[in-house]
Amino acid sequence: MTECIFCKIVAKKIPARIIHEDDLAIAFEDINPQAPIHILIIPRRHISTALEITQADHALIGHLFQVGAEIAQTRGIAEKGFRLVMNTNADAGQAVFHIHLHLLGGRAMHWPPG
Ligand code: 5GP
Ligand code: ZN
Repeated sequence: MTECIFCKIVAKKIPARIIHEDDLAIAFEDINPQAPIHILIIPRRHISTALEITQADHALIGHLFQVGAEIAQTRGIAEKGFRLVMNTNADAGQAVFHIHLHLLGGRAMHWPPG
């Protein structure tokens, strides 16, 4: 998707502070962090929302969670806790329509979320 900002980050056409890359996914620092640790884990392949995930994507989605958990461990927040969340459509505040897991941590999280 040529107009998608996250596809441009995948293609290295716009810069990001990339902290993990593999065949399926990349992870980078969120440009507007909402917690001391705020990292986005995204598939290389463009999928617009969680609503477009199909059975063929199950391994990919599991991989995104595993990468997120591994980064949480690397960053030292696994024991205390962290959040992995995917916003979908307007009421959830989705602003970029290329699926991404937010890894949030480094502070106590509120529940229910705002
Ligand atoms: P959403 O609201 O779609 O769940 O989350 C989009 C996230 O992407 C936001 O937290 C926002 O700060 C982040 N973001 C938007 N544009 C960019 C960008 O160009 N670079 C990076 N690193 N993060 C971005
Ligand atoms: Zn995209």
